[in-house]
Amino acid sequence: MLFFPTAYPDELLFSLCSRYFIRSGNISYKGTLDDLFSHSGLTTSISLPTGVSSLIKNLPPYSKINERQIIHNHTLYLFYTAFLPPDRAVRVYDAMCSNDGKGVYNQSGLVANRVPQNEYLRFCRDCLTEDKEKYGEYYWHRSHQLSGIQCCLTHFKPLYNSSVRVVGANKHRLQIPTLESCSAVKSALDETSDKTQREYIDFCEKMAGSVLQLLNQQFSHREMEDFHQIYQSRLIGLGLAYYSGRVKQKAWREYFSSIYSQELLQLCHSELSGHQDWLSLIVQKNRKSFHPMRHLLVMAALDMNITSFFDENNTPKPFGNPSWPCLNKVCNYYRKPIINNVSVSLTDVAKEPVGTFTCTVCGFSYTRRGPDKGEEDRLRKTRVKVYGDVWTKKLKDLSNTGIGLRELGRQMGADPKTVKRYLENEIEARSTNSLISLEADRKKWLSLQKKFPNKSVKQLRKEDKALYMRLYRNDREWMIENSSKGKHRKSSARIDWSKRDEKMLMEISNVVEGLLDSEKKPVRLTVSKVGQLIGKKSFLEKNLNKMPKTMAYLMRKVETVEQFQARRIFNTIKQLKEQEEELVPWKIMRKAGIKDYGKWVEFVEHHIN
Ligand SMILES: [Zn+2]
Ligand SMILES: [Zn+2]
Repeated sequence: MLFFPTAYPDELLFSLCSRYFIRSGNISYKGTLDDLFSHSGLTTSISLPTGVSSLIKNLPPYSKINERQIIHNHTLYLFYTAFLPPDRAVRVYDAMCSNDGKGVYNQSGLVANRVPQNEYLRFCRDCLTEDKEKYGEYYWHRSHQLSGIQCCLTHFKPLYNSSVRVVGANKHRLQIPTLESCSAVKSALDETSDKTQREYIDFCEKMAGSVLQLLNQQFSHREMEDFHQIYQSRLIGLGLAYYSGRVKQKAWREYFSSIYSQELLQLCHSELSGHQDWLSLIVQKNRKSFHPMRHLLVMAALDMNITSFFDENNTPKPFGNPSWPCLNKVCNYYRKPIINNVSVSLTDVAKEPVGTFTCTVCGFSYTRRGPDKGEEDRLRKTRVKVYGDVWTKKLKDLSNTGIGLRELGRQMGADPKTVKRYLENEIEARSTNSLISLEADRKKWLSLQKKFPNKSVKQLRKEDKALYMRLYRNDREWMIENSSKGKHRKSSARIDWSKRDEKMLMEISNVVEGLLDSEKKPVRLTVSKVGQLIGKKSFLEKNLNKMPKTMAYLMRKVETVEQFQARRIFNTIKQLKEQEEELVPWKIMRKAGIKDYGKWVEFVEHHIN
């Protein structure tokens, strides 16, 4: 050959050969195939063509293109072999290079899966228009020919059948798209209901990234047994498999069917046919290969992304090697290498690695968006997940010395807002027990003053140093206000706190009971939430310790995040029981808005039995 056309992005090899045919002026297809492949009988298959090595040999001497580039960039090889074990993928590759293409389809597993091949070459109207504008001509796109993908992954519009047949009589014909061959109006999507169409387009918008990644990127191939293992561990986390790995097939099928409609699955050539169909088999231990669309459907249903799927166990190390420093400013190991493990996840959109580092000494846990670019990045943190016991204890001690929020923040290595939030939670976390002892201390302090009416606070302190210290640490405001030489004594004496307490208790108990009874979206009960609802947030937070009845009531009612999640689960179970619906753990958790299925599944199972 004296020339070969330059390939356009995402162009099929068949399309390149067809352009060569037109430009060569050669009138016979067979003669052209002989030029290209030294073999006039070769069929130029659309998805997985053969004879690639011969083609490379026949290219003009200046051409730098090689087999790998042709196979990776201009055929559907990467997409169709992504889920095959390494040896089988290599055999497909070798068969594509050779002139004897018999093994290609069997090795690729496309035959065994009975996924229908498209009958015609397909096109997207918008792509045609854009190609003409950009390049002055039309060409066939690879991504339009994927079996099970019925819309353009750039424009999310239907793909139409051209009049160029892929299988059968005319398959030797080399043709580029023309206005005539692309005037057809038949699209698989147009034949479905509007609802299905919308569902399918939504699905494609979600999946486009993964499909294109599979089509364009070489992932390291995994052994067959890896796939069901990865799926199973995910299913266990969702409560859809036993810890032994055995899949609860009925629940799994129900879960999957709640995500995709039958119509959508049909468009993906992956309809369910009941017991022992592909959906059961793909999560079981066996040596079968499955069509990439089916893996994609399962992965999306299980919220898994492609990169982590293939990279599990052989992940590059975005945060380098252990050990990593603790970044808790008040930990003894601050900035010293103490953390030996990092757990890496990927961000949803950008797919950037996020590492979570936890110090086992102090419980401090932080994340960092990676990858690290240098040593200095090791001292960087994106977010603190958990401050840990050492930190909260230190904060409590420091806050009792009376220093301001900003200085507290500086010493604790956190911003003042965070510090404030933690101090508020501290109030919530105090148990009723400590309240009782607080009450006793207050009584003691008051009687101490009665006993020594002429003594100053300083002198009283000498009388009962431990009592003074306890009050100073836990109840300082009250002590100041209720001491004979207290600064604010006069102004606060006018307020009848016990009356206020009663009133407040009435007010908030109404709000709280209402909240707990409500059919509406449940709200987590915290002191600040209740305060907000009665429009007295800062008053309540500031004066809670002057209203012992209110405080005791609130302490009984406020919820930790876990308690709140448990309440949501209980409510959901109750509702489902009332509606006489079947109690299925994942359904309950989804309805209750629980994200971390793995953590709650046992709890739920326990409570429905
Ligand atoms: Zn398009
Ligand atoms: Zn630490």
